[in-house]
Amino acid sequence: MEKIKLLIIGSGPAGYTAAIYAGRANLSPVLIEGMQPGGQLTTTTEVENFPGFPDGIDANELMENMRSQAERFGCKFIMSAVERADFSSAPYRLWLDDDTEIIADSVIIATGASAKYLGLPDEQKYMGMGVSACATCDGFFYRKKVVAVVGGGDTACEEAHYLSGLANKVYLIVRKPYLRASQIMQERVLNNDKIDVLLETNTLGLYGENGVEGAHVVYKKGEPGEKQYDLPIDGFFLAIGHRPNSDVFKPWIETDEIGYIKTKDGSPCTSIPGIYAAGDVADPHYRQAIIAAGSGAKAAMEAEKYLSSLK
Ligand code: NDP
Repeated sequence: MEKIKLLIIGSGPAGYTAAIYAGRANLSPVLIEGMQPGGQLTTTTEVENFPGFPDGIDANELMENMRSQAERFGCKFIMSAVERADFSSAPYRLWLDDDTEIIADSVIIATGASAKYLGLPDEQKYMGMGVSACATCDGFFYRKKVVAVVGGGDTACEEAHYLSGLANKVYLIVRKPYLRASQIMQERVLNNDKIDVLLETNTLGLYGENGVEGAHVVYKKGEPGEKQYDLPIDGFFLAIGHRPNSDVFKPWIETDEIGYIKTKDGSPCTSIPGIYAAGDVADPHYRQAIIAAGSGAKAAMEAEKYLSSLK
């Protein structure tokens, strides 16, 4: 394949926004869409907090709109995944899953993160019908309802706290006899009347006719005093961590201990000139479509500057 100026990897809000900006800057970007075109957002239903849509917008429609906007400015799309990369020197080389080689002067990594799930078949069954991995995205649908959050870290406590502002009752399902979260987050949860912390509790499955109506849980699994019971809930939120999709790039690019790509001073610049990271793959904190879109725009602007410096 001939050398391209800019390769964008990932088709979430970060990747598509980078493509819109890069296309308008005449960089003729090529975007690798990966296995889940549209990214994590496509696992939710309606998006109500993306500015510009006062009545909300269907998540898939929002992503298709972003894609069309990128296409309008000349972005080319490849439905494939990046398997391997060689960033030892510029121009950079990457290989797709069918072994096609791409040579690019600059690269924007916008591969996102994947929420971790427990691995229960019921999570798939009720996906978008009561199961969610993002309280900020879906919490609003559970106003005055009863929900459970799984996890005992900062994310779980933060999500439980956020949901307690909407739902009537929040159960925090924690597998250990203690919370792992920071002291301040623990206190926030323990002092909240609407949150019940269920320690030493694991989820066995979910039940419900047309959506989640409850969870089968077990207290002290495999120990004396084990007790199985059903917990009636309307929503089941996973908050057991995220995994940034950075494995392919780790041999070349600096990441933190979880795998989030390290960038410089709030910019999308990585440790390698001409290689940028945007969106959730570099963001352990905010994980929002609007933030990812903003960082995609920044990455394209940095790539434009870098590419002009090569001339
Ligand atoms: P963590 O890895 O810190 O916590 C994950 C939690 O999920 C743990 O309680 C863990 O249990 C539990 N868990 C993992 N797997 C399972 C499973 N299969 N079944 C049941 N429970 C499970 O992830 P977070 O997303 O909470 O945080 C990631 C990082 O981001 C942390 O460094 C955190 O401090 C930071 N963060 C900071 C925030 C802030 O400062 N406001 C907000 C959000 C995140 P166990 O303890 O038993 O392993």
